[in-house]
Amino acid sequence: MCDEKSLENLEKVVEGAVKELEEMKDSSELEQWRIKYFGRKGIFASITSSIPRLSSELRPAAGTKINSAKKQLTRMFEEKLNILQKKKSPEVDVNFTIPGIVPERASLHPITLVSREIVAIFQKLGFGIHTGPEIETDFYNFEALNMPEDHPARDMWDTFYLDEKKRFLLRTHTSPVQVRVMQKISPPLRIIAIGKTFRRDAFDASHSPVFHQVEGLMVDTGITFSNLKAVLVFFLKELFGSGVRVRFLPSYFPFTEPSAEISISCVICDGKGCQTCGNAGWLEILGAGMVHPEVFRKSGVECKNITGFAFGAGIERIAMLKYGIDDIRQFYLNDMRFLRQFG
Ligand SMILES: [Zn+2]
Repeated sequence: MCDEKSLENLEKVVEGAVKELEEMKDSSELEQWRIKYFGRKGIFASITSSIPRLSSELRPAAGTKINSAKKQLTRMFEEKLNILQKKKSPEVDVNFTIPGIVPERASLHPITLVSREIVAIFQKLGFGIHTGPEIETDFYNFEALNMPEDHPARDMWDTFYLDEKKRFLLRTHTSPVQVRVMQKISPPLRIIAIGKTFRRDAFDASHSPVFHQVEGLMVDTGITFSNLKAVLVFFLKELFGSGVRVRFLPSYFPFTEPSAEISISCVICDGKGCQTCGNAGWLEILGAGMVHPEVFRKSGVECKNITGFAFGAGIERIAMLKYGIDDIRQFYLNDMRFLRQFG
């Protein structure tokens, strides 16, 4: 393209460029077109570079012709770019008159509500709040709680072990927090711990592999079973109403001696007998007892005349009785129709 002929071709070049431009569908195709014709090594650069090789009388006319062709194509390019950008603009596709999606209003989960209520009751009695890890060692979950390796009481809990040597596990109760606190803080102690616990139970109406517990511990000189009774009766009457009756029955736990199982008069039938209480009129709600001397020893508490009591209860069980829920799975289904009732 280095002679007069290339200039004669100019009209054909422009004609081709216009046709291509009309068929462009998006801005990337448009950019390819710009490079092809106006790039540093493009067709117009090549045509312009041929001007010096023309005879001197032909040069001015050739220059004018090339410039006007360039101007025409540039103008058409800009128009096309404008059209494509308008097409891409979201304003064309969005209808701002359609009503928006109203976000769900959050509310506290029933487990959170009950946990907060329990914390508030024990705070009235001067109990502090403590927490512990959900992944525990065998020592804190079993051994320090008076359950050595071959102790049959370990069978009371179906445990999720995390390694083959059974050194680490998901805590089966919140009782390890007692040991951790006693290792760090010397008596007098008044604490509760609320948190998740884990057992290898099948998911059904009354079992869940993950659930919540509240654990309590009071340690001081001269603490007796009477103190245990006073604190727990106060707690249960605050939680379920002053009309509720509380019953203590002897029981067994490896980490307390003596141990008790505590029931309240059925909150559904008021002790007359119904499906919820199995016609017994009583609902088992707490396990408790005086801290076993072996637990004190393993926790490093060896002061004279120190005694204490401990207790534990399931938060889900309390929430189910308080709100009249008959299936524990409701707490974990994230069903907004269920959760909204507690907002
Ligand atoms: Zn009942």
